[in-house]
Amino acid sequence: MPHNTKYVFVTGGVTSSLGKGIISASLAKLLQSRGYSVTIQKLDPYINVDPGTLNPYEHGECYVTEDGAETDLDLGHYERFLNTHTTQSNNVTTGRIYQSVINKERRGEYLGKTVQVIPHITDEIKRRIKILGTKNKFDVVITEIGGTVGDIESLPYIEAVRQLKWELGPSNSVFIHLTLVPFLAASGELKTKPTQHSVKVMLENGIQPDVLVLRTEHPLTDEIRKKVALFCNVSLDAVVESIDVSTIYEVPLLMQKEKLDQFVLQKLNLPVGNVPELKAWKQFISKLKNPKSKVKIGLVGKYVELPDAYKSIMEALIHAGASNECKVNIISLHSEEITASNVNEKLNGLNGILVAPGFGHRGIEGKIEAVKFAREQSIPFLGICLGMQCAVIEFARNVIGYSDANSTEMVRNTAHPVIDLMENQKGVTDKGGTMRLGAYPCTISKGSKAFEAYKSQDISERHRHRYELNNDFIDDLQKHGMMATGINPDTNLVEITEIKSHPWFVGVQFHPEYKSTVVNPHPLFVSFVKAALSVASS
Ligand code: GLN
Repeated sequence: MPHNTKYVFVTGGVTSSLGKGIISASLAKLLQSRGYSVTIQKLDPYINVDPGTLNPYEHGECYVTEDGAETDLDLGHYERFLNTHTTQSNNVTTGRIYQSVINKERRGEYLGKTVQVIPHITDEIKRRIKILGTKNKFDVVITEIGGTVGDIESLPYIEAVRQLKWELGPSNSVFIHLTLVPFLAASGELKTKPTQHSVKVMLENGIQPDVLVLRTEHPLTDEIRKKVALFCNVSLDAVVESIDVSTIYEVPLLMQKEKLDQFVLQKLNLPVGNVPELKAWKQFISKLKNPKSKVKIGLVGKYVELPDAYKSIMEALIHAGASNECKVNIISLHSEEITASNVNEKLNGLNGILVAPGFGHRGIEGKIEAVKFAREQSIPFLGICLGMQCAVIEFARNVIGYSDANSTEMVRNTAHPVIDLMENQKGVTDKGGTMRLGAYPCTISKGSKAFEAYKSQDISERHRHRYELNNDFIDDLQKHGMMATGINPDTNLVEITEIKSHPWFVGVQFHPEYKSTVVNPHPLFVSFVKAALSVASS
């Protein structure tokens, strides 16, 4: 018998940033805890083939999957909530859809037909949605459509899922629509009109939402719920309140209280069963909300104006804080504003310093000053990707004495290129998807801080970079006390560096933040916060 995958489509109206990603992840979490295999897909209506070429200021962090796809940051939420991996197929953009349709046209596969948005683009969208469910045999695929209904860019997606509903047949799909119920302070009222208008737009496009999730700052009265149900053609139990909460991790519990998962399962004609306890999840929230101590961690980066730019790092610190039962106060520090003369004052009082990933030379000298401060003051230090590269540059300059040491990304012809391009990167000119991306193995030396954290010698972590530690300098670095404690067993590239004499100084070429989840807080972040905690309480 073919596997019957059911589909949930999530759309948003009124405004962006209503939290479609978090609602999708929460619903998925609830279905997963009832024993269903679930995945979430994000459809992004922009023309970039993937967000890898987008500046973080445009679109927040670029999230990297095991299989090396550069994806939307919502996939990070999906993985953190579900504790399962996503892949390239979980994120599809308009650019990717058009790219495959145009390639097909060039191969002559449309047999002389005129290629059009309908049916060719919509068919390709439908194919991408269905393939995810059937290839991996998921019980439920939740597909989140980016943007807001009514946008020109979203139209082909809305049309594609409208068609899919009929092709899939009854009880095989559910439409969830998110809207905003604003509170007008002057009249002291919650307003439903934007929701009514937004559902009208959906109806104009041929879709009657089955469930309405209303984002609100104040609890919805019965009267409001009834009004929305009546004017938007949904049953009363399909009006779901999504009230503002202090942490996104509470949303699954709220959605459970609102019975969103039960309603969806009934609509899909799937057994509902008992209400799951969500024990581990509740324990995590209780630890998060009742910390016994606190630490101050400085996050040094150049995109700090936009917290979404470091989403996974921030979440990994939250997971690690809960695991240590301590509150992590993240102090964002702009690397461009840190100089040799103000570093003491700016970084004073921090219990840990994290130097963030990044590209290009802007802010690099500030990052190097922050590393120097952490090294000299014996403050726990975690350097991620460019952060690790800065740690190597700093060490080469100030400990070994190569005052011009640099990465060739910053200065092409430095006499001491301690960070350099790999041979196979030298001829690469295309920007999209050409870095070292995705999961690679690493072997850790026993007795290192990394081994203490992972409690294993064999690990695998995700990458997103072009430059590497230059192996010509390993002996020099090690002789002076910076050890290569993690090595890629296949290529011999250095993945982890540590300073032997420092209480906790770890640089990693990979991105541990992508793998931290609620259920599995990342061991390096847990150890880093623990080290910071011991500084805070000494
Ligand atoms: N710019 C550096 C490189 O390409 C580091 C990248 C990063 O921090 N993700 O190697």
